[in-house]
Amino acid sequence: MTTPPTADNVRAAAARLAGHAHRTPVLTSRRVDEELLTSVFFKCENFQRMGAFKFRGAFNALSRLGDDARRSGVVAYSSGNHAQAVALSARILGMPATIVMPHDAPASKVAATLGYGAEIVRYDRFTEDRAAIGAALAAQRGLTLVPPFDHPDVIAGQGTAALELFEDVGELDALFVCLGGGGLLSGSALAAGLLSPGCRLHGVEPEAGDDGQRSFRSGGIVHIPTPDTIADGAQTQALGELTFPIIRRDVTDVHTVSDAELVDAMRVFASTLKIVVEPTGCLAFAALRRLAPAFRGQRVGVIVSGGNVDLDRYAALLTA
Ligand SMILES: *Cc1c(COP(=O)(O)O)cnc(C)c1O
Repeated sequence: MTTPPTADNVRAAAARLAGHAHRTPVLTSRRVDEELLTSVFFKCENFQRMGAFKFRGAFNALSRLGDDARRSGVVAYSSGNHAQAVALSARILGMPATIVMPHDAPASKVAATLGYGAEIVRYDRFTEDRAAIGAALAAQRGLTLVPPFDHPDVIAGQGTAALELFEDVGELDALFVCLGGGGLLSGSALAAGLLSPGCRLHGVEPEAGDDGQRSFRSGGIVHIPTPDTIADGAQTQALGELTFPIIRRDVTDVHTVSDAELVDAMRVFASTLKIVVEPTGCLAFAALRRLAPAFRGQRVGVIVSGGNVDLDRYAALLTA
């Protein structure tokens, strides 16, 4: 059994990331606070390197590899932010990286991944299994597989975003975090334990993919088919073996939001905060907007997880 990550691991990850990851800004908006009657602190990981918090976990995991593993390199399977995070981290640390991506991955993501110097191995989403391809590459070439969320070093790295938020603004009454496989939420819970033990953690996932909520409420990991939602960074089928127990232990509740609510939140980010946020990055704020009456007068953190969205798609979502 893998040893679960601890709050100390989040601290150690923060030290490893210093000078490599951006310390992203915390934004506030008087207008949002007046509308919600709540003091909201946005931790803006859309300004992180490669455009999302995933850099934190990937860089932390890669920087812990020994010399032999570094020489052989790493492999990841993802069409989204994790791929770019692994590719960029590998380039910074001087390791070869191989990314397994579907033939129909968006051109911008393929270009970004190639731009970071990674090798791309394509596969057919409908007939081939990316996990099997990743495992085969790892075995044949001696590569280290870096999973997108269910790994202690990835979880600890993701927790550093919330750690910085608490360092910058002090203790909070509640923290809203988007939820896919649970790396960001479980890491944030560990960080809260260190710096804001009274803070209540709320996970937020897309309505179409409510496996996290069902798992949280039933006490066992629920698996679902790939959900159909605009929140492409949260199209996970199940929480992880490491992330789930932490979420179950430390999180207060898990909520779901509709795609329409995501677009509404995206619009507020654009018009009021003047920031570009990808659909998945809108999950946490979308839930807080609906639940605000229950948080009246409180100090509430919102993790804005990423800003990677093709501009054509962004414009289409906002004008639909
Ligand atoms: C990966 C990702 C998430 C979900 O994170 P998990 O650790 O899988 O729960 C949320 N937002 C963005 C932008 C992501 O890239």
